[in-house]
Amino acid sequence: MKEEEMFDPIINHLEKNGYEIIEQNRGRERGPDLVASKDNQELIIEMKGDSEALGVDYGTCIGQLFRRMEDDDRDYGLALSASYRRFIKDSEYPLEKLGIKVFIVSKEGVEKWSGEVGFVVYVDDPLDYARVHKESCRFYQKREGEDMETGHWKGGFDTKEEALNYAHQTETSKVNTCSFCMK
Ligand SMILES: [Zn+2]
Repeated sequence: MKEEEMFDPIINHLEKNGYEIIEQNRGRERGPDLVASKDNQELIIEMKGDSEALGVDYGTCIGQLFRRMEDDDRDYGLALSASYRRFIKDSEYPLEKLGIKVFIVSKEGVEKWSGEVGFVVYVDDPLDYARVHKESCRFYQKREGEDMETGHWKGGFDTKEEALNYAHQTETSKVNTCSFCMK
């Protein structure tokens, strides 16, 4: 899919997920390709569609995004056509480390890169706490099942906020985050 064809689907996807589009620079050199905002948090997105030199363009796209990354006050993302899957796979570790959101745009729609971590909550009944973990946390990875002797795991949250909301709804007296997998 060409970059210019990707704008409508990604904008659609972001709006459906509660974002407001505040800037779009279709085909223009200046400025980020897309700036969206949700809950007063800006998300800056650089986009790349199909091309003759995918590897070079992937590097260019990452370089463009890096130059826009100035502080933690904003979120940063890449919107890429499906042809870039193998390049994304090869740089999964730094992308996750830097918290870069990755959207794959194709004729089928928009999907979030599945390598991106989700969040889970462990609710401990006797100790009366609910703790948010990353899906990649060793405690979650080593679990024996969703239902444990003293509590349960609840997974499938895309963001930390959604996981925290769930944790609060459990009405346990303490809600916190795991000190191993989250800062
Ligand atoms: Zn953890």
